[in-house]
Amino acid sequence: MTRISRRGFFRTGAAASAGAFLLGKAGLAAPRSKGSVPIIVTDHTNETGKTAVTEAFKILEEGGASLDAVEKGTNIIEVDPEDTSVGYGGLPNEDGIVQLDSSIMDGKTYNAGSVASLENIKTPSSVARLVMEKTDHVMLVGRGALEFARKFGFKEEDLMTSKSREVYLRWLEGKSDRDDWGPPDHLIKPASQGRGSGDGGRGEKYASYRESIEHYHGTTNVLAVDKNGNIAGITSTSGLAFKINGRIGDSPIIGAGLYVDNEVGAAGATGRGEDVIKSCASYFIVMQMRAGRSPQQACEDANQMIIDKYKAIGSDYVPGEKFVAINKAGDYGCSGLKLGGNPKMAVVTADGLKIHEGTLVKP
Ligand code: ASP
Repeated sequence: MTRISRRGFFRTGAAASAGAFLLGKAGLAAPRSKGSVPIIVTDHTNETGKTAVTEAFKILEEGGASLDAVEKGTNIIEVDPEDTSVGYGGLPNEDGIVQLDSSIMDGKTYNAGSVASLENIKTPSSVARLVMEKTDHVMLVGRGALEFARKFGFKEEDLMTSKSREVYLRWLEGKSDRDDWGPPDHLIKPASQGRGSGDGGRGEKYASYRESIEHYHGTTNVLAVDKNGNIAGITSTSGLAFKINGRIGDSPIIGAGLYVDNEVGAAGATGRGEDVIKSCASYFIVMQMRAGRSPQQACEDANQMIIDKYKAIGSDYVPGEKFVAINKAGDYGCSGLKLGGNPKMAVVTADGLKIHEGTLVKP
């Protein structure tokens, strides 16, 4: 049998779409399962993320549905005011408006819902669930999504916190030295004196605004398998910080930021949404698992596909991405591109909470 290297395989354009099925046949089989169900995972490994999956696991332990568990876990992350990447306290767009994106998919009923550019509602994932369960549509956007949420009694609230407002104002002041944001010129030392001196001179702000922002990117994915083997997932985000008003990322797009197949598993994405959309990354990961790849391998395959797509057009561009996945047997994995370190995920099973370190795919 001719062996095909994974990299070469993805370079052959048409083969990429058929790859899901061919990879399995090429003998690149997944390792034997060490998984257990029920299981719930999230890409969020901070204290809130750990609490979220620990609390949500109680639903699974008691025999509850994966759909309820992922909603509960996501809501805990969405309302955390300290988290500047999701829900309440998420960073706004360039006009200072917080616009949230979220999707939900239920493997058991093969149903999905999502909201995009939703303003003033702290828990967009719960609105997405209602779109899924109470309408014959999959996606609502902007004003329509907000009016829909209002009909169900969601409270409109200012989603900016003092923390996110401060970051936004610093961004406004620092994004250019050719506008009128920031103190008047006569109160600012020349950049030569201000830069690096910590006194907040205009030149210094311009140089350091990116570093001053804690979560320029960020999203949460929560995926679960319940005792009945049903799989559900949610992706929720405030999207790319300072995006153009109305920009929608991958998170509310089924197949991009999230995908669930009840026979196979689930995947979710974080990172530059434009690339996740173009690669249909979550769908691709689930199809790779369907073809026999482990969640870990399938996430790596998606990152490799993105690298290879850019290489094929002669570009060495590499977007920052992180994918997490689980399969029906309770195996899990995560893999990233261009991150500060190896990507991690929080996992809860009957054995308790653990932080799994995945892999960084290098170009
Ligand atoms: N994927 C999100 C988006 O592009 C943002 C992120 O995860 O950083 O909207």
